Amino acid sequence: MYPRLVIDLKKLHANLDAVAGITKEQGGCSLMIVTKGMCAHKEMCEMIAQHPAVDFMADSRVANIKTYADFARANGKKTTLLRIPMHAEVADVAKYVDLSFNSELSTIRLLNEEAGKLGVKHNILLMIDLGDLREGIFYQNEDLIFETVEEILSMEHINLYGVGVNLTCYGAIIPKNDNLSNLVAVARKIEDKFGIKLEMVSGGNSSSIYLIGKGELPEGITNLRLGESFLLGNDTAYGEKLPGTCSDALVLEAQIVELKEKPSLPIGEVGVDAFGQKPYYEDRGIIKRAIIAIGKQDTDIDSMEPLDPKVDILGGSSDHIILDVTKSDTEYKVGDIVQFVVGYGGMLKTATSPYVEKVCR
Ligand SMILES: *Cc1c(COP(=O)(O)O)cnc(C)c1O
Repeated sequence: MYPRLVIDLKKLHANLDAVAGITKEQGGCSLMIVTKGMCAHKEMCEMIAQHPAVDFMADSRVANIKTYADFARANGKKTTLLRIPMHAEVADVAKYVDLSFNSELSTIRLLNEEAGKLGVKHNILLMIDLGDLREGIFYQNEDLIFETVEEILSMEHINLYGVGVNLTCYGAIIPKNDNLSNLVAVARKIEDKFGIKLEMVSGGNSSSIYLIGKGELPEGITNLRLGESFLLGNDTAYGEKLPGTCSDALVLEAQIVELKEKPSLPIGEVGVDAFGQKPYYEDRGIIKRAIIAIGKQDTDIDSMEPLDPKVDILGGSSDHIILDVTKSDTEYKVGDIVQFVVGYGGMLKTATSPYVEKVCR
């Protein structure tokens, strides 16, 4: 059935080999692979769990981790929750997650209780905010960092596994040697003050991996968490391709349901479209317009690109995308399939949509 997302597991495996080579061999870091971009797709997660270089499997949602926790653990991977937990989900976190990212003592106290009920020790990564201004204790607020660590260390069922930072996703701040060095400094201060050794100093996501190639990842960063770089081959700091990866391991396919020659400019007074936006039209004269059966309910139309370089996406509505196929070398007809590579947003929406079939090859 169409539309469908075709997942090339061999290509994803090769991407995983490539990012593992950079992160582990070159960078000396442990490797955390992030599954949320593909909604923890089952066969993909099995491939990740069986890959010998992967140390941790992470997701932002407990519902996703639940689907692979047993399998991941059986293959020696630690399950990791990336989003700061809700009070409402602490019981599931203690049960399915080996390591969770945290910044609020009230939540960590609840996790301590839940871990106690299960008779387990739950690992915590304390998030430090280096200026991107999403989660974490602000790095300059040392008093709050120390107070928090002190109470965590007093909890019977919690283990302080390390500290971490997230950059780029919200504030678009690029990881550099100088800001990541502040994280290492925080880690060393905690170790000195409390006489402990932290197992992990997690230096960010796919926007940090470029630092390894430049030899600029600070000494003391011991882990990276990679989603997009593995799935799409992107260095997300500067938008470059990572060596040894490909960007077409995931291909979106949709079927043409109408193909007609019509003008490129609508006729009549222009109001707003189905999403309240005033559309912009370019006059291309009479063009060949193909409608494919996929729309904004299924994908992010700004985050997909036709594999045929001579096809343009003109726009779309909830259930339709309109293409200009006039200049293509292919004589498209109704029933034909058009293929696209996806960006992060397109991947996320198609992976999550129940209307988009997933097939592995
Ligand atoms: C999503 C996420 C990641 C992975 O980000 P990518 O850019 O896909 O590598 C890592 N860490 C945290 C905390 C996240 O939320």
